Amino acid sequence: SARNASFIQGANRVAQQFEFTKEDVRRTTKIFLEQMVEGLEQDGANISQIPSYVTTLPNGTEKGLCLAVDVGGTNFRVCSVQLHGDRTFSHTQTKVVIPPELRVSDTAEELFAFFAKQIELFLRTHHSDHLQAHFALLETAPSTSGRTQGFHRLAFTFSHAIDQQGINKGFLIRWSKGFSIPAAVGKDICSLLQDQIKLLNLPVLVTALTNDTVGTLMARAYMSSTETRPILGAVFGTGTNGAYIEKLENIRKLKLVDADVQLQGSREMIINTEWGSFDNQLKILPSTTFDCTLDINSVNPGYELFEKRISGMYLGELLRLAMLSIIEISPDTDRVNHTSTEKDTFGESHSDSNTMSVEETSPMYTQWGLDTSLLSTMAADETPDLKLIRQELAVSVGIKNVNIKDAQILQSLARSISTRAARLAGVAVAAVVIKSECMAPQVVAQCGEDSSRFKFNLPAFVHGKLILVIKRWAKKLQQYLRGTKSELKSTALDTPPPLVSNSSIKCQISDRISSSGTNTESDVERTVDIGVDGSLVELHPGFKDELCGALRDVEEIGEVGESRITIGIAKDGGGIGAALVGLLAEQQQ
Ligand code: ADP
Repeated sequence: SARNASFIQGANRVAQQFEFTKEDVRRTTKIFLEQMVEGLEQDGANISQIPSYVTTLPNGTEKGLCLAVDVGGTNFRVCSVQLHGDRTFSHTQTKVVIPPELRVSDTAEELFAFFAKQIELFLRTHHSDHLQAHFALLETAPSTSGRTQGFHRLAFTFSHAIDQQGINKGFLIRWSKGFSIPAAVGKDICSLLQDQIKLLNLPVLVTALTNDTVGTLMARAYMSSTETRPILGAVFGTGTNGAYIEKLENIRKLKLVDADVQLQGSREMIINTEWGSFDNQLKILPSTTFDCTLDINSVNPGYELFEKRISGMYLGELLRLAMLSIIEISPDTDRVNHTSTEKDTFGESHSDSNTMSVEETSPMYTQWGLDTSLLSTMAADETPDLKLIRQELAVSVGIKNVNIKDAQILQSLARSISTRAARLAGVAVAAVVIKSECMAPQVVAQCGEDSSRFKFNLPAFVHGKLILVIKRWAKKLQQYLRGTKSELKSTALDTPPPLVSNSSIKCQISDRISSSGTNTESDVERTVDIGVDGSLVELHPGFKDELCGALRDVEEIGEVGESRITIGIAKDGGGIGAALVGLLAEQQQ
C-alpha cells in the first residue's frame, strides 16, 4: 500500500542518515589523532588529554586493601578491594543510583554530602568494627582529630573532565553525562569530598583521584598475563572515554616543576583522553537532524558531541527521535493523533484493529523516554517473526500491533544507530592504537640502515592485501637479523622496562625471529590488548564486532592488524582499578 511504502521509504532514509562509511572512519581517525596530539601540547584542546599522574601499571602481584568510590553517569559505587597479589582480588561493592535532582543543582555540597553518606553506610555495613573503634576513640580523645593513623585510604574515581594536578588533586573542568552543577566547576573535587567526609567524622582519607578509564586500564593490567599488557582502557557505558599510555616526552603541556618530584624515573604516564568532547569545536562528525535535536535539548548543547553519538545515555534518545520522525511522515498521523486513546502510526487503516498504534502514554513522547537497552533487545532478536522486538515494543514502549515487516524495519533502524556508535567508538580505539605505535613493527625500526626503507612503507606493511610483500620483507628481515641477532638482543635488553612492555615485546620478537627457522608474517605479530567496561559494550550484541569492523577499515590497521587486537571486558574495572591506583599511589609518593 502507499502508506506502507512511505513508511518503508521514510525508515530507510532515516537509517541511511546514520551511515558511517569506511572513508568517514579513515578521515575521522586522522583528525582524532591530530586532536590527541594537540591535547598533549596545550590546555583547552578538544581532546583534553589529562595527565593522570599514574606512571606504573600493576603487574598482578600487588597486595592490600583500599576503598574506592566511583561516580558514573548513573550510579555511585562504593567498594573495598582486597588484592591478593596473584592477579585475583575480592571486593565488596554497593551501588546506588545518583538522585537526578542532585545531578542538576545550584550547590555542590548536596551531591558530595550524598557521596559521604553512602561511604558511611558502606563502612557501617562492611567495616563496622573499624568504624566503631574509631568513633569510640573520638569520644575518649576528641583532641586527636588531626590523627590519620588507622584511616582507610580511599581512591576517588570521578568520571567527568578534571584538570588533574597531582595524584589526589584535581579541579573540575566541566560536567558531562547530563550533570550540571556550575558551582563545582573550578573546585578541587577531592577537597569537596574530603570536607563532607570530615563533617561525618569518618576515618577516611582521599588519597588518589582517578578516572574510570584509568581504572579500567589498571584493572585489565592487574588481571592479565604479563605478556599481554593492555595499551588502552575504554568505557562505553552512560558516557564514553578512554585512557592510554603515553610517553612523558610527548606530554608537552605537563608542568614538570610540580611533576618531576612525583615522576622520578618514569618514562610514561597514563593519559585520560576525555575523548567524549572530541569535535566540540570542529563539528566534523556526521550530523543528522536527530543529533541536532538531541543536542539542543540537552543540558550541555554544543558539548560532548562525540559522546552524544556513542554512549548509553544518548542512543535510546536518538532511536526515539528517529522513530518519531517516521511516525510524523505517516500520512495518517495528524488524523489519528486526535483519537481518544491511541495514535496510529504507519498502519493500513485506522479502523483496523491490527494496525500499529502508539499509546498516548508511551515513553515515545517523553524526552529520554527510551533506554539504550532497547537497542540491544532489538539488535539481538533473531527469531523468525521478531517476536521479542514486538513484545518489547508492546510492553515497554506502548507500540502495539507491530507486524513482522514493521519490526524488521525498526530493527534495522535501531541497528543503524548502534552501528554508527560502534564505528565511531572504533575511530577512537584506532587512533590510540596508531598513536601507541602498536601497528608499527618496532623491531624493524631498530635495524640500522635498512630501517628507513621499512619505515617508508609502514602503512603498506599492515595492509591485508599486501600480505605477500610482507612475507618477502619478513624473509629479508630474517636474513638480516641472522647477522645481527646478538646486537639486536642486547639493544632490547639494555632498555629499562617501560610502563607498557614494548621492550619485552621487542625481546620476544627478536627471540622468536632468531630462534625460528621459517619466518612468516606471524613473527612480527604481537597482541595489542584493550580493556573495556560499560553496559553498552558488554551487553549490546553487535557493538564489539562493529567496532572491530571500523578498526579493519583504517589503513594503518587493516585486517592483519585488527586480528592482533584483543578487546576484553574488565568488568567494574573502575572500582578495582581505582584501588590499584590508590595502592600504587602510596608507593609512588
Ligand atoms: P555507568 O556508566 O554509570 O558506570 P553502566 O556501564 O551500567 O553504568 O552504563 C549505564 C548505561 O548503559 C545506561 O545509559 C543504560 O542505558 C545503558 N545500558 C544498560 N543496559 C544496556 C543494554 N542491555 N544494552 C545497551 N545499553 C545498556
